[in-house]
Amino acid sequence: MTRLWNDPADFADEMIAGFVAANERYVRRVTGGVVRSTVVPQGQVAVVVGGGSGHYPAFGGLVGQGLAHGAAMGNLFASPSTQQIHAVASAAERGGGVFFSYGNYAGDVLNFDAAQERLRADGIPCDTVAVTDDIFSASPAEKHKRRGIAGDLTVFRVAAAAAEAGYDLAGVTRVAGLANERTRSFGVAFTGCTLPGAEQPLFSVPDGRMAIGLGIHGEPGIDETGIPTADGLAELLVSRLLDEVPEGVDVSGARVVPILNGLGSLKYEEMFVVYRRIAELLGAAGVEIIDPHVGEYCTSFDMAGTSLTLFWPDAELEALWDTPVDTPAYRRGSVVAAAQADASADADLAAEAIPPSDEASRAIAATVAQAVETIAATVDAHVDELGRLDSIAGDGDHGIGMQRGSHAARDAAIAARDAGAGAQTVLARAADAWSDRAGGTSGALWGLILASLAGKLGDVGSPSSADVASGVAAGVQSVMTYGKAEVGDKTLVDALVPFSVELTHGIDSGASLAAAWATAADAATRAAASTADLLPRMGRARPHAEKSLGTPDPGAHSLALIATAVGAVLERN
Ligand code: ADP
Ligand code: MG
Repeated sequence: MTRLWNDPADFADEMIAGFVAANERYVRRVTGGVVRSTVVPQGQVAVVVGGGSGHYPAFGGLVGQGLAHGAAMGNLFASPSTQQIHAVASAAERGGGVFFSYGNYAGDVLNFDAAQERLRADGIPCDTVAVTDDIFSASPAEKHKRRGIAGDLTVFRVAAAAAEAGYDLAGVTRVAGLANERTRSFGVAFTGCTLPGAEQPLFSVPDGRMAIGLGIHGEPGIDETGIPTADGLAELLVSRLLDEVPEGVDVSGARVVPILNGLGSLKYEEMFVVYRRIAELLGAAGVEIIDPHVGEYCTSFDMAGTSLTLFWPDAELEALWDTPVDTPAYRRGSVVAAAQADASADADLAAEAIPPSDEASRAIAATVAQAVETIAATVDAHVDELGRLDSIAGDGDHGIGMQRGSHAARDAAIAARDAGAGAQTVLARAADAWSDRAGGTSGALWGLILASLAGKLGDVGSPSSADVASGVAAGVQSVMTYGKAEVGDKTLVDALVPFSVELTHGIDSGASLAAAWATAADAATRAAASTADLLPRMGRARPHAEKSLGTPDPGAHSLALIATAVGAVLERN
């Protein structure tokens, strides 16, 4: 359990503030996370990492000379938003382009991909390698779907060393991809973790049992056994990882970097006992151990558990691995200290002015703000139910994520309306605030839906019903482009698509916006209910597909609730 916090809602923010205050030699706070506080040579590729908070030293603790140039730091266990990632990357960028790397989770992929698009649109080249080291999260045939855990470190380090050695963006991406191919991990857990202020652990492991393959966010384990001896655990970890060595590696005579990672509350002493046997077993298999690591590299709050990572470098990767690093949480060799950078040169993101609007659009803007207020109230009324649905096969944060997002959207919409903004600006501000504050996959997707709809409303004149329908259709397009889910994958797409189809159909056949919307919301409600019969193929719920049979998809359910509530607002206006 965690014992110390002020307002739990402020925990991540206050944690980052304290982390920066304690590490000014290394890092400087920027919008969305931290960047190095030291001078980076012009033209060097900037390695930007990131993810949810709660995994220290990942990700802020890994920023410094020889490692990351910046880290986007999301809320606890929630992906940083597109805006946060984009802001950190823009601050870290030094003319050599940006390289993104992070653990492969749906929310992170979505937000980093969207940030990558934005950087490219700004004229900054950007490439990505999402880390997929956790062998228990998908089969070898679906390696690209695997999660990233402690293996993040090898990919980040190789990429950063290459950047420092003067590799260009394509070169950094190539060696990082190779490092990811040659990194495999496997984890076990004895207890779950409890987020600050929570009364219950996020997930739990029965007393005296050990969960195999349990995800670092509590994605349920793949298997469960009694707790073995330290030697027994070493044997389990080593044998499973030797069963799946990367292509091109011949175990006998191979050189390997073992990383025994503590997940939060396992003692170093216990890990040393386990490592003693790991070293013996690797030696017996004919493997030559180089640069072993025993410690905490990617934690999961106060979770008790451990993972073993084996990194099988080739000669180029080993040379890159062997370079010095100096960061708040991770040091290797001795670096030549770089000078402190002058932070005053950073341009602050200035508050954007409200574009001009006319009276007709301001009248629509009032309805839009009302609709967003209603969305927030609807989420409040269902927050526990949404969390419960998401906890069955996902990570249980759908209620609080939707709450953070919709509240921020409501506040932004009201502020823009009160500042005299037109309909488009009010909804666009709400969209940005939602995806920035919500975290998680659904937050990014709701940001896209609202931003697409906003694009059709305009700040002058009144949009037609057909404009609204085409705005919703554009939202479907961008959700499917970024999220890559199809109908039938058990996501909010299953409710959004019939909603959009019915809305367009109703308006094309001459119904009023309110009437067509109500029919469409009914279609979404039926479709959301039928997702109970589907198996998830996307997102965090995918590795535990069968557990969710009989339960509707949380994102589809919340979308239907929101569509219905907004319908009532349209009816009144
Ligand atoms: P996270 O999955 O990051 O914890 P939430 O719990 O807030 O985010 O939202 C989960 C919901 O997000 C799922 O129920 C599903 O409807 C939706 N979702 C997840 N991945 C996708 C995707 N790739 N495309 C569309 N919707 C998705
Ligand atoms: Mg979730």
